[in-house]
Amino acid sequence: MSVADGGGGPKHVLVIGAGIVGLALAFRLRQGGAEVTVVDPAPPGEGGASFGNAGAISASSVAPLAMPGLLRQVPGMLLDPAAPLHVPAAYWLRAAPWLARFVAAARPATVARATAALDALLRLATEQHLALAREIGAAELIRPNGQLYLYRDRPQLAKDAAGWDIRRAHGARVETIERADVVSLEPAVSPAYQVGVFLPDHAYCAAPHRYARAVAEALVRAGGEIRRDRITGITVADGRVTGARGEDGTYAADEVVVAAGAWSARLLAPLGYRIPLETQRGYHVDLPASGVTLTRPLIPADRKVFITPMEGVLRVAGTVEFGGLDRPPSAARANLLYDDLAAVLPQASREGAEGHWMGHRPCLPDSVPVIGPAARMPGLWFAFGHGHLGLTGSAPTAAMLAPVILGQPTNADLRPYAAERFG
Ligand SMILES: Cc1cc2nc3c(=O)[nH]c(=O)nc-3n(C[C@H](O)[C@H](O)[C@H](O)COP(=O)(O)OP(=O)(O)OC[C@H]3O[C@@H](n4cnc5c(N)ncnc54)[C@H](O)[C@@H]3O)c2cc1C
Repeated sequence: MSVADGGGGPKHVLVIGAGIVGLALAFRLRQGGAEVTVVDPAPPGEGGASFGNAGAISASSVAPLAMPGLLRQVPGMLLDPAAPLHVPAAYWLRAAPWLARFVAAARPATVARATAALDALLRLATEQHLALAREIGAAELIRPNGQLYLYRDRPQLAKDAAGWDIRRAHGARVETIERADVVSLEPAVSPAYQVGVFLPDHAYCAAPHRYARAVAEALVRAGGEIRRDRITGITVADGRVTGARGEDGTYAADEVVVAAGAWSARLLAPLGYRIPLETQRGYHVDLPASGVTLTRPLIPADRKVFITPMEGVLRVAGTVEFGGLDRPPSAARANLLYDDLAAVLPQASREGAEGHWMGHRPCLPDSVPVIGPAARMPGLWFAFGHGHLGLTGSAPTAAMLAPVILGQPTNADLRPYAAERFG
């Protein structure tokens, strides 16, 4: 089947960015009959955050990061280098406008709007990833084993009550469990953690990079094309997008999707878009011989990291560091992850663990990604800004956006995700 463009041939869609968001969307577009080309200077899944995330698929993570009470936490972010969210002094001025918008997004009305948007997008994430993984021949990668949050005691849990209440209000199963049940789920957890919150409907991906590669391979098998090139500009004629220009060639297309993660705003600036997209840099360390067996991601709530049993390694991933797209990674930030690991799994061995990885989460102040058509520019589409939830949101974004690009009937309401909300 092919989808007709204005002239009767199949519609040609160019997707900029071969992270998990661009790839999942490209695959769905190809399945829907479009000619699809994905362009990225890096091999699929290697250029950005999709390579090394924590693998959590978190359908009920509908509370935005900016929540009422945020302002009280800002001094800690600025002054404590070991805080889970850190803004280095050299980056304070650069980060200030974004942080101001972030604090403003903690208003109750904005939080309610963001929560509804995230719920509508992510609600079916587990099912959508299970389906995608099956269709690309990698069903074993998505494990619907739930996720386990860990608390030291009830008072610590009470501090997070607002976030859990929001999830429950949106229909999520959120089970508070005592130490005995924590241990029956995950025997390795340190006795320092006496209370758990189990999310039975969450899932995880056991190899995020392999997942992205498998989507790319399925795309190519289905007739899609992947090109290695860095896009330098989106081309426009008579007020309509005509394709893009890269370092190594030009790409004509009927529709162009910007799915370049944290780099998306740079690509759009020459077209007049001022999108407040900030990278929140995160790190991982992988332990090849931890000696610990887990069945699902553990999330110690006091440390805000994920400890995930990946294929062949135990991964500790997290921390939020401002610092832009171009500054080198900070080994000191990455090394904090070993302290997080030791707090939860003191018996875990670091043997063979080497180096660390840093990735750029593409973050918008209200935690809602930009998905949908560019109102002022026919032929231009957006699929970026998924922040801390881009693996989770990738298959859902593809399911929501592909039919709209293909001109198929759909009842998707893309207005909550519009770029125009930033003015
Ligand atoms: C430490 C860490 C842990 C995380 N854990 C989780 C988690 O457990 N669950 C979850 O859901 N999410 C998690 N995330 C977030 C998630 O990884 C991201 O939101 C997601 O990977 C974003 O995907 P993307 O495809 O939009 O962007 P990316 O994966 O960053 O891909 C963007 C691509 O665009 C390409 N690109 C850039 N510029 C150009 C250009 N000019 N031309 C062509 N291509 C270009 C880049 O090379 C890159 O390949 C985590 C992130 C980090 C850093």
